[in-house]
Amino acid sequence: MDTITSTRAVVLRRTPATSGPVDDDFAIEELAVPELATGQVLVRNAFMSVDPSMRGRLEPTEKHYTTNFVVGDPLDGSAIGTVIASAAPGIAVGAAVRHRLGWRDHAVVEAAAATVVDGSLAPLNQWLGVLGQTGFTAWAGLVRIGEFQPGDAVFVSAAAGAVGSAVGQFARLLGASTVIGSAGGSAKAAMLTDRLGFTGAFDYRDGDPADQLARLAPEGIDVYFDNVGGQQLAAALGALNLKGRVALCGMISNFDPSRPPVDIGVLIQTVLKRIMIRGFIVRDHEDLRAEFEQRVAGWLRTGELVSLDTITEGLESAVGALFGVMSGANLGKMLVRLDPSA
Ligand code: NAP
Repeated sequence: MDTITSTRAVVLRRTPATSGPVDDDFAIEELAVPELATGQVLVRNAFMSVDPSMRGRLEPTEKHYTTNFVVGDPLDGSAIGTVIASAAPGIAVGAAVRHRLGWRDHAVVEAAAATVVDGSLAPLNQWLGVLGQTGFTAWAGLVRIGEFQPGDAVFVSAAAGAVGSAVGQFARLLGASTVIGSAGGSAKAAMLTDRLGFTGAFDYRDGDPADQLARLAPEGIDVYFDNVGGQQLAAALGALNLKGRVALCGMISNFDPSRPPVDIGVLIQTVLKRIMIRGFIVRDHEDLRAEFEQRVAGWLRTGELVSLDTITEGLESAVGALFGVMSGANLGKMLVRLDPSA
């Protein structure tokens, strides 16, 4: 058994100001690693996930689906790594496990809170990305919440990001008639059509999204997968066809202080066009997981699906990666490599 008695971890030093978090709100500290109790494993983390929801967890407001980070404690979040010591009968040393104790190099994880993944099926970074919770969010939101049907015209915002890039590709592979994506900047928009097979894409910062949608989807759209809220949600409501569906996944534009306010009066579109809007949290849809993994692993194997990620190196880069995911520094899934050999 490896003798690991301490680990580096990112700790929240103080409550961030209302203007937003800064580097000094965080510190890397050395924490004790306790001896394993029965039912626990010691994991050398290989990668950790960086998610916009972590920005929300720095706010003091009540959360209905997760917990806030606590001052003085290490941050947490999705991570994947290799078991280097085990006191859990079902998990062998050498197994690859996904768990919730990111933001640290090593973690003592309860076996019940760890999922063993098949590292031979896909590399570990993909198990946090398109084959992990990110891809699963795209799948559940598109297939169940958006009630996607072959032939639908789909629009997805934050389309060059982790969830969005999966949504657009899944829609294409499932037989969408049109897949439109929006992203920040012309290079990201070009990547969507040139590399990921979207039928159209636009830079949401360049002109009115409503005009861009009218240009790229003159017949209208049937499903809008919303990652950003605000102006783009309003534009999508205008572009949706009769009985269109909106899967509300997240509203990252809420964190943008420069965002123009949107009049809630746009909701009249849902009445006039009998539009269904439904928010969702991915973990409520675990029953879809097996089918999702089987389909996505198949598409990765055949090369029909592109797995996109942006990887920063080392725990010291993790806070910057969180700021980066909020400002669009990522293409696809934002990850931190915690084990240089991974
Ligand atoms: P991501 O899309 O990889 O990264 C966030 C992206 O948002 C950035 O790359 C940036 O790209 C874009 N962005 C930042 N500010 C923006 C603004 N003001 N307006 C429009 N776009 C902006 O992140 P993700 O992990 O895939 O998450 C996407 C969304 O899904 C988030 O809202 C997240 O909270 C949500 N989510 C929900 C669930 C659930 O269960 N409901 C689960 C996972 C994620 P640009 O360069 O294009 O601006």
